[in-house]
Amino acid sequence: MRLLALLILFFCSCSHGTENLYERSFYSMGSTVELKFYSPSEELFHRIVDACVERTREIDWLFSNYRDDSILAQVNRNAGVTPVPVPGEFLRLVRTSIRYSELTEGAFDITIGSLFELWRAETKAGRLPARSRIRDALGCTGFQKIKIDEVKSQVLLDGDCVRLDFGAIGKGYAVDEMVKIARENGISRGLVNFGGNIYAMDPPAGRKSWDVGVRKPGSGNKIISKLDLMRKGVATSGDYERYFEHEGKRYSHIINPKTGWPAEDVTSVVAVSKSATEADVFSTAVSVLGSRGAKMFVRKDKSLGFLVVGKNGEERSCFGSYKCP
Ligand code: ADP
Ligand code: MG
Repeated sequence: MRLLALLILFFCSCSHGTENLYERSFYSMGSTVELKFYSPSEELFHRIVDACVERTREIDWLFSNYRDDSILAQVNRNAGVTPVPVPGEFLRLVRTSIRYSELTEGAFDITIGSLFELWRAETKAGRLPARSRIRDALGCTGFQKIKIDEVKSQVLLDGDCVRLDFGAIGKGYAVDEMVKIARENGISRGLVNFGGNIYAMDPPAGRKSWDVGVRKPGSGNKIISKLDLMRKGVATSGDYERYFEHEGKRYSHIINPKTGWPAEDVTSVVAVSKSATEADVFSTAVSVLGSRGAKMFVRKDKSLGFLVVGKNGEERSCFGSYKCP
């Protein structure tokens, strides 16, 4: 068993003073978005959720891998050819991603696109990628290949095979953007969950935190640890839902940008951080670097916390603000 998932353990104080708890879900970018907000009115709540739906559409249009008309698709199509004018928001997330690449010694890298596509296509065709093709795709990887013109707001990928992929940051980013919308509308208590990328805002009145359980699917969905979250993001990376498969062996869909091979030192990571974006990024980076990475990151930033599940799926280690039970 190599799998972990997050579960919101909710003890309802469903109404408090003038606020009531409202919940609504919608589907976006292949996952479910679950919103729980304490709002003074149902009308305001739905207005906020409608704005969140709209916001995720914009984010999808900017960063989606799955549509030809996204800004990302335009940037990728013009790789090695010509700089592409991009909206400020696109440029900002590219810059943020580069900063995280620097912080993670390149373990998190949005230029993973070529390698990822190679692994996807080859395992789908029933084989492992040939060494020579992995070597070629490694030549198309590296955040230094992203060239930004701040003044003209343009992005150029240096090499016709370079491809950007926001798969390890996009959902966390979308969560933080939805939290921002809620706060701008006066909502302070709530929780946003986008396919396991979670941000816990202020807790329900009278409670100290939101409780999120880390669950092991199968085996009776046993909860192996419980997190008390307030103004924190949390994310998991692991192969419980998405993975490549070849001859019965599962390969992580997280690729080590240095070796070109799927990460395999750890089977699952839970990351806690000050934002959902950061939790998303660091869960991926620690999947690549293993416990060494977790140690390094918590030394630099005390607010970070990690649960790392080792190769055999049993051994668990905790780092920083994550306290093992
Ligand atoms: P999940 O999709 O389970 O939330 P992640 O947040 O770790 O998992 O994102 C994995 C996705 O990120 C992959 O599907 C791929 O699109 C992309 N990716 C894979 N390896 C890396 C990496 N080393 N750095 C950045 N993105 C990656
Ligand atoms: Mg991630």
